[in-house]
Amino acid sequence: MPLSDINDRIAAACERAGRDRSDVTLIAVSKVQPPERVEAVLAAGHRIFGENRVQEAQGKWPAWQKAHPDVALHLLGPLQSNKVRPAMELFDAIHSLDRAKLARRIADMAQELGRCPDLFVQVNTGEEDQKAGLPPAEVDGFVAEVRGMDLPLAGLMCIPPVDETPSLHFALLRKLAERNGLPGLSMGMSADFEEAVAFGATHVRVGSAIFGERVPT
Ligand SMILES: *Cc1c(COP(=O)(O)O)cnc(C)c1O
Repeated sequence: MPLSDINDRIAAACERAGRDRSDVTLIAVSKVQPPERVEAVLAAGHRIFGENRVQEAQGKWPAWQKAHPDVALHLLGPLQSNKVRPAMELFDAIHSLDRAKLARRIADMAQELGRCPDLFVQVNTGEEDQKAGLPPAEVDGFVAEVRGMDLPLAGLMCIPPVDETPSLHFALLRKLAERNGLPGLSMGMSADFEEAVAFGATHVRVGSAIFGERVPT
C-alpha cells in the first residue's frame, strides 16, 4: 500500500478521535525489506524509520543517513547491553528499554557521548513468557528508577499478544502512561494502527502495510 494511503488512514483515524494529525508519528518499519522498497519510501519524502536489530541497521542506514541527514531512526527490537554504544550512535529513539541494567548502561554512555536517544519503556502488557518488556505491575517503580538516572523518558511501548484484542492492551498502556505522567505511547502496527490512534498512540510502527510482506532472509 502506498505511503500516502497509510498517511490518509492515520489522518482519518485522528479526525475520528478528535486528535491532531501532528500528534501522531508514523514510524516506517523497514527491517528485512529489500533496499529498493526503502529507497522508494525515502524518495516519497518519508524520514522516520524503525529497525529491530542494531547490526542490520548498522549495515544499511549510514549510507541513507548520509544522503538524507534528516532521517530519524527508531530501534524497536530488544537491545543487548553490549550493543548500547552502536545503538546510541545510530538511533534517535529506543523503544525497548526494559531493565535497570540497560538503563544504567545507557546513562553511562549518554555521559560519554553527550547525547541520548528518546527512550520508551517496553511493557509486556499480555505478560507473555517469551516476550520482552516489563510486567505492568513493575512499570511505576521502573519509571521512577529511570527518572532518577536523569534519562530522557519519552513514553511507553507495547506489542499486544497476536491472539488478543489489541484495544485492551492499548487502553492498559495508556493508563500506565497517564499514571506516570508520560506523554508518549508507541503502539499500533500494520493490522491495528488506526485503533491505536483511537486509544491515544503518539507513535505507530507500521511495516508490512507500507513496504509489503517482509521477504524471508
Ligand atoms: C516488525 C515490527 C513492527 C511492524 O510490524 P508490521 O506488522 O509489519 O507493521 C512494529 N513493531 C515492532 C516492535 C516490530 O518488531
